[in-house]
Amino acid sequence: MKNILDKLYRTNCLNKEEIIFILDNIDKEWENYLFNLAKNTLFETYGNKIFIRGLLEFSNYCRNNCIYCGIRKDNSNIDRYRLDKKEILASLEESSELGYSTFVLQSGEDLYYTDEYLEDLIREIKFKYPDKAVTLSIGERSFESYEKLFEAGADRFLLRHETADPIIYNSIHPKMYWNERKNCLYNLKNIGYQTGAGFIVGLPNQTNKVLAEDLLFLKELEPAMVGIGPLIPHPDTPLKKEKIGSAEKTIVLIALIRLLLPDALIPVTTALNTIYEYGFERGILAGANVIMLNISPSHVRKKYEIYKNKETKDIQELNILKKKAKNIGFVINMERGDNLNFRRNENV
Ligand code: SAM
Repeated sequence: MKNILDKLYRTNCLNKEEIIFILDNIDKEWENYLFNLAKNTLFETYGNKIFIRGLLEFSNYCRNNCIYCGIRKDNSNIDRYRLDKKEILASLEESSELGYSTFVLQSGEDLYYTDEYLEDLIREIKFKYPDKAVTLSIGERSFESYEKLFEAGADRFLLRHETADPIIYNSIHPKMYWNERKNCLYNLKNIGYQTGAGFIVGLPNQTNKVLAEDLLFLKELEPAMVGIGPLIPHPDTPLKKEKIGSAEKTIVLIALIRLLLPDALIPVTTALNTIYEYGFERGILAGANVIMLNISPSHVRKKYEIYKNKETKDIQELNILKKKAKNIGFVINMERGDNLNFRRNENV
């Protein structure tokens, strides 16, 4: 184990067999060794800063039927909402005053928001806040659509690959296809977005071999951001009887991702925070360096229910987070927190 982990720290590379070996055999003692290596790597790249993002969930309508997701099209037990331009801009104004420098606009795949609608919105946001970063997380669209939104000023795009196993991918995403997901991610990168990928931990049939494929896919794609979180089964979805994904395993995977991709921005995801009280501290100490706080208007927050009891930490938590960060030797940072290797228009 020591040889493999030291090699990972030195070279930022592992082969499939080595990843499987780690995941099959790691115990508490080696976990601590791994977390220390990951923390050292984080200190060498981003130092002890934890970047804050403002997450605005602007619509819970979705045309897809991902079998794990509470806002899937066929879930009729959900109160659907859409925010209009005015409501979105009002939330961003409030967040801007509170000091946020990144706005993450997330929704189900909702084609009510046409390219033109989103282009107008993004242009207006960038006109008002030229120095702030706009991140989109709105699912799969055509190359042309991604290109228009980038030209309108969007800086980043989050699109988790969910799982790199094509058979599992196609079976949990009715009428969606692994090859298309992969194409979307490469399109986003080629257009020039800081692109985020990532996967769910604890999906049915997800072995350590599958997780190794997830990590190798990330290594090949080299995304600017990587978000992973445990599966939290939603009672109104086909996965209602599944077990909750493992927080411990998620944290080990965060550390491996930090070592494979030293420059990645890695959030402690809401899902990890939801199932694990110490998710924030443990995630950061394993190499994560981003936290997303909810900036959606309070009347819609509970409605964006991808799983039950979703954590909606918001700015009220900031002082608590600052203290928690300080206790473990980190500082909360409200700057844009771009990927180290990224400058808009230089990376295309
Ligand atoms: N529609 C956009 C997309 O497909 O990228 C963004 C919204 S989608 C709800 C955001 C993420 O939520 C997904 O990428 C998925 O990994 C995660 N998610 C959905 N349901 C979940 C669940 N039950 N447990 C854990 N994560 C879940």
